[in-house]
Amino acid sequence: MALVHDPRIDDARDRSMREVLDKLPPLAGVKFGKREGVGPCPKCGGDDRFSINLKTRVYNCRSCGGGDHIGLVRLVLDCDFMEAIEFLEGERGVEIDPAERERRRKVREDQKEKDEADEAQYRAWAIRDAISIWQACQPFRGTLAEEYLAFRVPGFEFLPLAFMCFRFIPDLPYVKRIKKRNHTLHSGPVLVAAVQAPDGMMRAVHRTWIDLDQPSGKAQIFTPDGKPLPSKVVRGSKQGGAIRLTGNACGSSMVSGEGIETTLTALVGGVLPGASYWAGVDLGNMSGKRVGGKFSDEPDMDGGPSFVPPCTVDDFWLIKDGDSEPRETQAKLTACAKRAMRINPGLSAHIVPTVPGGDLNTMIKRPGEQ
Ligand SMILES: [Zn+2]
Repeated sequence: MALVHDPRIDDARDRSMREVLDKLPPLAGVKFGKREGVGPCPKCGGDDRFSINLKTRVYNCRSCGGGDHIGLVRLVLDCDFMEAIEFLEGERGVEIDPAERERRRKVREDQKEKDEADEAQYRAWAIRDAISIWQACQPFRGTLAEEYLAFRVPGFEFLPLAFMCFRFIPDLPYVKRIKKRNHTLHSGPVLVAAVQAPDGMMRAVHRTWIDLDQPSGKAQIFTPDGKPLPSKVVRGSKQGGAIRLTGNACGSSMVSGEGIETTLTALVGGVLPGASYWAGVDLGNMSGKRVGGKFSDEPDMDGGPSFVPPCTVDDFWLIKDGDSEPRETQAKLTACAKRAMRINPGLSAHIVPTVPGGDLNTMIKRPGEQ
């Protein structure tokens, strides 16, 4: 079968993104700057995920994917390629029956509601699971978990603090779901840390599988086909939570690193006397949702629960881990710092880089100090 090339395809390809946007129904909530539009995705509604570049004529949604200006027509109208061409170049304008569009919209909405309900149910289940893990723990002092932290953070054992955030399990299976089946890939002693939500409630546990025979002190865990897996796994809902190393009470300054060990290293160093030391669980949790792509440092202020220091804090130090990808790490920590400063305009935030073997004491200096 010979295909006859439809010249309207070329006409459609030649159109600018602005022309396409003028023809489409307005995209609710999408704010346009000179070069870019950012806002909720017209298909999935995802905030902070959707952007349109007017110059390069591409759009992108972190859930639905991306494409060119013709792809955008397909996304918005939920139509196929030729329907999009017809819409852009057809003499009769919109060719898709309004009733059919309404039907498609309804299907999408129902699916979104169902997904949200499933997610809420899954989260509730994960939180219950986290609480039962916590309840099955032993006290932390005098256990292998304390030994692990003393091994990773020299001087830890001399800190005169209660560390209520830590507990210990002598033998916990490491279970991973692969291809719809649960696999127990390892079992052993675990340091369990409570992740407290901004309201103080514990909604997740952070677990570190320990093996003091390894140089890192952490267990080496592999998939059945030999791929390495993280020895630290969070269970529950960590959203905006923190591991409160120095407890709930919070003064005017706070030091936060991504990991327990990094933040404890600063604590052992006595970097800021009287400060609270809260670990941010992971970088994604610290940055919260962001507007734009992977390297964006712009926090989405409407993006749900986020890691923010309590309102008593006006001096906030973020420790940048040396072993993470530098550009993305910087972007995520900057987003965290910007969010904290926007929520509390009296707060000043600082990002402190660590260098391998570097001394945090020499890096954290108050303004004016030498
Ligand atoms: Zn989307």
